[in-house]
Amino acid sequence: MATIDLTACRMRDALRARNLSAVEAAGACLEAIDRLNPGIRAFLSTDAQGARRRAEEIDKRLDAGEDVGLLAGVPVAVKDNMCTDDGQPTSCASRILENWRAPYNAHVVERLLEEGAVIVGKTNMDEFAMGSSTENSGFEATRNPWDLDRVPGGSSGGSAAAVSARMVPMALGSDTGGSIRQPAALCGVVGLKPTYGRVSRYGLVAFASSLDQIGPFGRTVEDAALLLQATAGHDPRDSTSVPEADQPVPDYLAALDEPVAPLRIGVPKEFFGEGLDAEVEKIVRDALAVYAGLGAELVNIDLPHSTDYAIATYYIVATSEASSNLARYDGVHYGHRSSDHADMIDMYMRSREEGFGDEVKRRIMLGTYALSAGYYDAYYKKALQVRRLIRQDFDRAFEKVDCIMGPTSPTAAFRQGEKTDDPLTMYLSDVYTASCNLAAIAGVSIPCGFTEAGLPVGLQILSGVFTEERLLRIARMYERETDWPSRAPPVCGEAP
Ligand code: GLN
Repeated sequence: MATIDLTACRMRDALRARNLSAVEAAGACLEAIDRLNPGIRAFLSTDAQGARRRAEEIDKRLDAGEDVGLLAGVPVAVKDNMCTDDGQPTSCASRILENWRAPYNAHVVERLLEEGAVIVGKTNMDEFAMGSSTENSGFEATRNPWDLDRVPGGSSGGSAAAVSARMVPMALGSDTGGSIRQPAALCGVVGLKPTYGRVSRYGLVAFASSLDQIGPFGRTVEDAALLLQATAGHDPRDSTSVPEADQPVPDYLAALDEPVAPLRIGVPKEFFGEGLDAEVEKIVRDALAVYAGLGAELVNIDLPHSTDYAIATYYIVATSEASSNLARYDGVHYGHRSSDHADMIDMYMRSREEGFGDEVKRRIMLGTYALSAGYYDAYYKKALQVRRLIRQDFDRAFEKVDCIMGPTSPTAAFRQGEKTDDPLTMYLSDVYTASCNLAAIAGVSIPCGFTEAGLPVGLQILSGVFTEERLLRIARMYERETDWPSRAPPVCGEAP
């Protein structure tokens, strides 16, 4: 088997057994990136020299019999909204941060390095993680490896596409309203959004701080578990990161193959309503039937507020927080400063005018409006109240069931340009994913089949706070019954 066809866990086994060197692993990924990235455009930057240097160092340590950590030389890609001090930009795919280099590493990047990962590059995204197709990137659109005319989903489209096309075995993304799960579904890979507070947000460029969470992409559930293991845990620099004493990090890999039994699966009728593509529905229902065949009980449940109000609530909360978080880009503290200005206020305005893209400006305006005196009570405060109702929907459901299943996205990958002129249609891409962030619970998307046109479809599984260990085991139950992870997009061809 070619090196890039190995999953992260099998690559790690080979590295530890010294059947594969870290230099070979990094070289195979860099070769795949050279070959495939010009067509897919998943990476905004790569660090070939740095990756090789680091791989050599890891090989030396492995040869000396040292324990180099959980990831033992496995190459990883990181979404471009996570700070790295390796000289690569941290641009958030925005012109306003185009040449900005972070002076420090995000917590997750520190963790990756401590666990022996080799970071090969930074991946493309919707600007400041605002979008569902990676077309809002300030630089270029990423293509879906299964069909280059289609979008990879977003906002972590670069990370999803990179893993799907086997340019790297695993990658980190961030999920504010669906940005890990939705691109995972559209690219046919596994993507997990951990419970809010499980993974530190220190060094993640903030979009909507009460919703943002970093999580793993992999081709298999096992790989997602491995990357979550490496990045989860307390960090005092993020005040919302949960202390180990309250929530110790479990061993996600230990019991992965042990099925959850008995298993009660909640099937909300709201996840199968109007707007859901018929082919996607059929494939997702077939996946539910696989669980039923394994002895799981399917229970019809209601989430009365979680689809009807999720998008409206999400777009008030997220834009309000974004309008505040993005106030710091003023041409002084970071990044782009307009060269043509009359006075300081004019400089602020022109720097922001030139630096931000249309979607980011739209959201800053929406959020500023929702927070302004006279509207705060009508919009922002109302949204927080509905957010509480959405959380209660889930709390009530999890008294009866172990997890909730449905489609990750209402459609398979759509065409490039199809939704760019209609932001409201684009926003509906997250109709099934956003409520998970509002409720701060955990969710994963796993591949569950392909449409007639050969496009992947994702099954979303949601579970209560800090139940990732069980969530992964539930996901693994289905994966064992299928061979979806072994399918590679045609664009990969035969690896040389
Ligand atoms: N698509 C959603 C948005 O545009 C979610 C983005 C995300 O999760 N970062 O806000």
